[in-house]
Amino acid sequence: MTSCAPSQVEGVLVASVRPRSAAARAGLRAGDRIVAINGAPLRDAIDFHYHAGEARLRLQIERDGRTRHSRIERARGHLGLELEAPRPGEIATCANKCVFCFIHQLPKGMRKSLYVKDDDFRLSFLHGNYITLTDLEDTELRRIEEQRLSPLYVSVHAMEPDLRHRLLGQPAVRGELMPRMERLARSCSCPNGMTARTSSARSATSRACILRWRPRPWCPSGSPAIASACRGCAR
Ligand code: SF4
Repeated sequence: MTSCAPSQVEGVLVASVRPRSAAARAGLRAGDRIVAINGAPLRDAIDFHYHAGEARLRLQIERDGRTRHSRIERARGHLGLELEAPRPGEIATCANKCVFCFIHQLPKGMRKSLYVKDDDFRLSFLHGNYITLTDLEDTELRRIEEQRLSPLYVSVHAMEPDLRHRLLGQPAVRGELMPRMERLARSCSCPNGMTARTSSARSATSRACILRWRPRPWCPSGSPAIASACRGCAR
């Protein structure tokens, strides 16, 4: 990935807090930065949802340059807070120069965020964006395995390595796709089989690395995507 540092600990920024919610009762406010839950540092929203699945939360918060601590106990339902979306500078971008890149074909003068060539496994997991795995670092692969971030949506381009490299515009970092896909598939031990949404020149769908987890009742989003990040979600 050419920008962003997914392993960097920065916390997550609270965008809004719903009145009379568990978060409001714990004293959280918009603008707070939650830097750790139950002692675990947060790198991003995925870490937040991963750790916020517990029933009892000890939050470490930064507000106005000072560190605060707060506790939340919730029996069920949402915490009642929304997180700020990542800014363009916090999103990992792709190292490729595909001949058909749709970003390069956009007209000029549109809003800046449309020109971000994102290649970020976190956006793939959270929003279904396609990623190429071209320069995904081993630490990030390990994180995907550890947190069971599935489904991910992979843009294959081509199965043959040299042809794929050419289609990607011959990026300096030549990450082989299939070994990574196979590694991710191996890390998923879904007893019901695995499927992955992939995109190639022929828009093929192939088997790879997708699990479906049933969320805990208090899963913060309720969506299958987020639910799969919650520790302890039932298989
Ligand atoms: S992977 Fe290719 S098409 Fe997608 S953003 Fe990067 S250069 Fe453009």
